[in-house]
Amino acid sequence: MSMKMAKRWAPFGTSIFTEMTQLAHAHEAVNLAQGFPDFPGPEDVLKQVAHETLHCHNQYAPAIGESSLRQAVSALVKEKTGIEYCPNEEVTITTGATEAIYSVVNAFVNPGDRVIVFEPCYDSYAQAIANAGGVLVPVRLHSPETPVGLASRGWGVDWNEFRASVAGGFKLMILNSPHNPTGKIFTRNELEIICEAVKGHDAVLMCDEVYEYLVYQNLDELASPVAMPGMRDFVVRISSSAKTFGFTGFKVGWVTASASLMRAVRLVHQGIVFCTNPATQRGLATMMSDISWVSSYLQSLPAQYAKKQDFLEESLKQAGFAVQRAQGSYFLMASYDSHVQGAAVRDTEFAKQLIRDARVAAIPPSVFYYGSEAPRRLNWLRFAFCKTDLTLQKASERLLEWARGGGPKV
Ligand code: PMP
Ligand code: GLN
Repeated sequence: MSMKMAKRWAPFGTSIFTEMTQLAHAHEAVNLAQGFPDFPGPEDVLKQVAHETLHCHNQYAPAIGESSLRQAVSALVKEKTGIEYCPNEEVTITTGATEAIYSVVNAFVNPGDRVIVFEPCYDSYAQAIANAGGVLVPVRLHSPETPVGLASRGWGVDWNEFRASVAGGFKLMILNSPHNPTGKIFTRNELEIICEAVKGHDAVLMCDEVYEYLVYQNLDELASPVAMPGMRDFVVRISSSAKTFGFTGFKVGWVTASASLMRAVRLVHQGIVFCTNPATQRGLATMMSDISWVSSYLQSLPAQYAKKQDFLEESLKQAGFAVQRAQGSYFLMASYDSHVQGAAVRDTEFAKQLIRDARVAAIPPSVFYYGSEAPRRLNWLRFAFCKTDLTLQKASERLLEWARGGGPKV
């Protein structure tokens, strides 16, 4: 590592998504590690983006985003949450949700400020907090086999632990629901506790809702904190075309927040990228403002992905894993406990063995703990099911063959 590198980057290395994808390529493994669809997003969107690429000016877009896309986002968010955001002052288009996360964290966090994060958590949060000089305060999501996890039928928060963490004060809280990597959707009751804490500390709640349309249970249970009483002025909400339209390569995301919070976010966004590419924004805007197209497309998503989850769940069970289904997102969690007779086997080791021996790649969740040590016995892997039926079929055959051959060599 270069001695010239700023110290705040020292804790970080190459992302687990890059590492596992490279390993998958090296072993010709099926990549159920990185969360991207291996099939194209809607052709109507691609056509509009191609059209705009040929015909729009292809010079800098407005820093806050193309007006047509800000209007379309405002309408979509209103439809989803019931909350109205002014397209001119309260919506900003970013270079993916990743840049949005960076901009939001750096807009509000001073050196030394505490930031509450539910762990395991998506990797961008820790990096953005470190860059701002903030202190990541973890609140653990306990795995389903622990008493608190069982009580909430999945990955669960011990709310006494939560209260103890927030009691020390905080400037920002990060909530990702549906959650990566666990697939958890925070219930309305849980959100009420979270929102009370945020208001009580006059803090900001960053809601990363990139999986908002990938929900596999009663939609009533998916509430956005922004719609909870009195929360509009406390919430900065993030979403993205990556998951909503299945184009992770577009790198077009968006932030919605009250004008006073948005002013700070826009300053950081301006300093990092200034703007994001106009043709993609305009192409997306055309389809997103076609109400009948967008509503029928978004309604079709859960059923399409639920079938994929069902198939992968069944395959993993047949191969000896215990599956915790995703309530939302692209990912399910599978325990390999029975493969190792309950022994603590590091998930990073197990994931590497699985790539080598079964030629199927998954993500070890222990890498998503930044504010605390990962639990010693975390016998879980994250599998992405946002893949073609053919890819999932291939993964299934390989996992079964591996299990028939005796499974892991531990
Ligand atoms: N947040 C979460 C929870 C994610 O899983 C991802 C990955 N899609 C992102 C943010 C980043 O989104 P984008 O690809 O739009 O930068
Ligand atoms: N969000 C995707 C995942 O969780 C990957 C993002 C990335 O590769 N940076 O798998």
